[in-house]
Amino acid sequence: MTEEKPADHELSHIDPQGLLRLMSLVAVISIIVIITVASFGIYEVFQRHIIRGAEDDAVSLSELILAHERKNLSGPAQKDALSITPQNISRLDRRFRSFLKPFNIVKIKIYDRERRIIYSTDPSIIGHIDDTNPRLDNALAGHNDSKLENKESVIDLAEEQQIDVDVVETYVPIRSAQGDVIGCFEIYADVTRYRGEINGGVITSALLLTLILAAVCGASYLVVRKGTNQLRLAQDRLRHLATIDPLTGAFNRGEILSRARKETSRLRRSGEQTPSRSIALVMLDLDRFKNINDTLGHLAGDLVLRQVTRRIKLELRDYDLFGRYGGEEFLAILPATNLSSAVSVAERMRRAVGDTPLDIEGQSLQVTVSLGVAVISGEALDLTGALKEADEALYRAKNAGRNRVCSEKA
Ligand code: GH3
Ligand code: MG
Ligand code: MG
Repeated sequence: MTEEKPADHELSHIDPQGLLRLMSLVAVISIIVIITVASFGIYEVFQRHIIRGAEDDAVSLSELILAHERKNLSGPAQKDALSITPQNISRLDRRFRSFLKPFNIVKIKIYDRERRIIYSTDPSIIGHIDDTNPRLDNALAGHNDSKLENKESVIDLAEEQQIDVDVVETYVPIRSAQGDVIGCFEIYADVTRYRGEINGGVITSALLLTLILAAVCGASYLVVRKGTNQLRLAQDRLRHLATIDPLTGAFNRGEILSRARKETSRLRRSGEQTPSRSIALVMLDLDRFKNINDTLGHLAGDLVLRQVTRRIKLELRDYDLFGRYGGEEFLAILPATNLSSAVSVAERMRRAVGDTPLDIEGQSLQVTVSLGVAVISGEALDLTGALKEADEALYRAKNAGRNRVCSEKA
């Protein structure tokens, strides 16, 4: 008798639950990455779009205020220069202040050509010269200049009131009737409310995207889970077909040998040196089985094999293993069992079959079995040698008259 290598079933190596878990993990990570990247992108688009609008609005508003106040800014005497005098400044101030609240303007400044602040809603800075401001220079060169400034990035004169909101800072040149630049008009428009709009837009878009992705992933998950369940059932069926003897429900020859190898390796790895460092093998063969087939028929023989299997299994412990080794020959593997205990178990098995006749389709049938016992033990833990010894012991039991147990040493 030789040991056989177990069949390799590629499909049985795939773990469907593991695949499903991996897919779920990948999906969750993908959703997080997609939402993060998309939210950032959406934020940028919203920011650019809304803030650009706010900047354009601030320029239009500045031009509107300038057009509205033009005659108050240039006196009749000097058509080519701004005329803000101590006499008209308080009237001008009243008029400019009336624009602040309705248009969310935080501050207004008016510069002359020499960069001197000749008017501001912040009176403390009137008279100061801002000569380190490139954006002011740009406006005095005739260009509109409007840009979002965060409250942290606003660069103001040291003396002026600091702003604690995000603003669009807008410089618009003031021109004379001839079109020459005679000064610069500046407003700080509060755009805090646009931030709310941006955040609201981003949150709504991100939520919508999350919902869509969750729905798509949820549907995919259900489809894949159905597939993996089917795969698992197919695997179970395949494993069953590959390992179980269809007639008796015991392990087939390949599986019982594979289990015997695993038990032997486990014992070898454990390194135990106790008396229980042994695995017992019980080889069992039905006596004169050919006669049963010949007299009652093959189907009755099959029923005998089934009933014998059932009776033997009742004598075994949960962790003992039992398989069909050949036609009417069986092998039991009893882990952590020495020879004398195994002989007792084999004797119980013999009696379980032989003491009570079987009922085969209403017919009482006396069946007996012969058993050979051997143990895998010692340094070598030789499975092949032990199988041979169990087989030889079985042969001796047959020769000694059948319906008996023989062991390797007796
Ligand atoms: P011994 O006491 O010496 O073991 O005699 P035996 O008749 O049991 O042994 P032998 O090897 O001569 O016959 C075994 C028979 O088992 C031969 C074969 O047809 C029969 N057999 C093998 N597999 C099956 C099976 O699956 N079903 C049935 N009904 N019979 C089987
Ligand atoms: Mg036989
Ligand atoms: Mg036989």
